[in-house]
Amino acid sequence: MSRLDAHGRVPPRDGVRSLEGYHSPQLDVSVRLNTNESPYEPPEEFVDAWLDALRKLPLNRYPDRAARDLREALGRQLGQPSERLFCANGSNEVLQTLLLTYGGPGRSVAVFEPSYALHAHIARITATEVAIGERRADFTIDPDAARALIAEHDPIITFVCSPNNPTGTVEPASTVDALLDATDGLVVVDEAYGEFAPESFLSQVRDDGRLVVVRTYSKVWSMASLRLGFAVAPPEVVEQLEKVVLPYHLALATQVAGTVALDFSDEMTSRVARLVAERERLERELSMVDTITAVPSGANFILFRVHGDGHALWQALVDRGVLVRDFSRWPRLTDCLRVTIGTPEENNAFLAALRESLEEVTS
Ligand code: PMP
Repeated sequence: MSRLDAHGRVPPRDGVRSLEGYHSPQLDVSVRLNTNESPYEPPEEFVDAWLDALRKLPLNRYPDRAARDLREALGRQLGQPSERLFCANGSNEVLQTLLLTYGGPGRSVAVFEPSYALHAHIARITATEVAIGERRADFTIDPDAARALIAEHDPIITFVCSPNNPTGTVEPASTVDALLDATDGLVVVDEAYGEFAPESFLSQVRDDGRLVVVRTYSKVWSMASLRLGFAVAPPEVVEQLEKVVLPYHLALATQVAGTVALDFSDEMTSRVARLVAERERLERELSMVDTITAVPSGANFILFRVHGDGHALWQALVDRGVLVRDFSRWPRLTDCLRVTIGTPEENNAFLAALRESLEEVTS
């Protein structure tokens, strides 16, 4: 018996064949507000300092496997011991390593939809069962429903995304406490947008606890292209993750970028403040449009529902050179679009295109 499929191709593992890839379409438009990156390039002084540092390093040698310099510098900045830090190629690789380490056949994780699609997607790639909880109408997690879900599925990891992508919802501390109470597994709080929110769960991480917080350099640090993310976790968890991740996975150029970037934290803090002020301006503007409803956001993006055809609105915005993320055909997000906060000029272009487009699709 041949194992080739009907087209003569070698089949992937069962769980992979049925998977859909992760898609976030890019189009060549002048205003790109679809992938939640920083609209600003990193400071020039940062790029110079990074390149200068790289020139002095032995590029023929493998990088420090433990990324010690980076973890120490980051630990100092966060007020965390470096033993609690695990760094990887973007927070996606952190999430993947968590799932490779703690997930797998016979194990499950809990997610609360709608949320960041990669939590469930990577879980499935690692043959981990996904238990799906529903959020409330305001997109917060219902602690009672979560307790019931956890009791039924006994997940090894419970994922919380706060602020939640794509809704922007900030979860109250009491919900994370309730989840930690309900499970004896890990609770992983994905804080990819944590810097834009008033609260963080970072200070709740304990050496003898089960809380893990995941963060990224992709947004605030203007470093999406360099791929750097990290977890703050109990040292025992970090040790397990280090066993699973590939040796030398984190290029020296990335490690050095992560360390040098920390010298520019004042600039980054003021950028966050600027983006939060722009988000608040956009929220005010959107609240005055009676054909859409915007969801309160603690992130660098805003989700809104159009009282009309969401996909047609997305297309009308693209036709005007503005690309936002189309969630209009996602379960639970019918007619919803998500706009990333850009520069004031980009946000103005979005608002102008939105006003024009809404006349087309809601009349
Ligand atoms: N978590 C969330 C919630 C995100 O929105 C993203 C980026 N889209 C990531 C993690 C991954 O970010 P990165 O791999 O660039 O660090």
